[in-house]
Amino acid sequence: MNQAELQQLVQETSLAYFGLPFKHQAVFNRRLRTTGGRYHLTSHNLDFNPLILETFGSEEFLGVIKHELCHYHLHLTNQGFQHKDKEFKQLLKEVGGSRFVKSLSKSKPAKSLVLYQCQGCSQLIYRQRRVNTEKYVCGQCKGKLMYIGIRNETVNLKG
Ligand SMILES: [Zn+2]
Ligand SMILES: [Zn+2]
Repeated sequence: MNQAELQQLVQETSLAYFGLPFKHQAVFNRRLRTTGGRYHLTSHNLDFNPLILETFGSEEFLGVIKHELCHYHLHLTNQGFQHKDKEFKQLLKEVGGSRFVKSLSKSKPAKSLVLYQCQGCSQLIYRQRRVNTEKYVCGQCKGKLMYIGIRNETVNLKG
């Protein structure tokens, strides 16, 4: 995907999911590392990390575009445009944008965590590796742990 195609895709996504035009610039930025994209408050332009598209494909990338467009449209209409804001969370949910992006760091691959649930107090417990559930019990209530599965660690979208 080149620069012009990215611009086109962001404009189309904006119209299709937000019903509003995207009137600024969308550019690929290879300097973004762990973030999928970035919204610039002063220029209103959007940066996108091409590694998301190259590593995880177009569906993941579309989620990032929607995420950045949430910042964009909310900011331009003077609504809560930050991650913590209710409006942001609501709009992100409505358009199906990404809250997280998978880990992109190459030197430090995404860690898998083993997830257990305590059968006593129901709390979820993450461990770096599998543990012996015959011996290892819940730290809070000493209940037995049940193996749930492996979860991949995700990184917060800071953009
Ligand atoms: Zn417990
Ligand atoms: Zn963001």
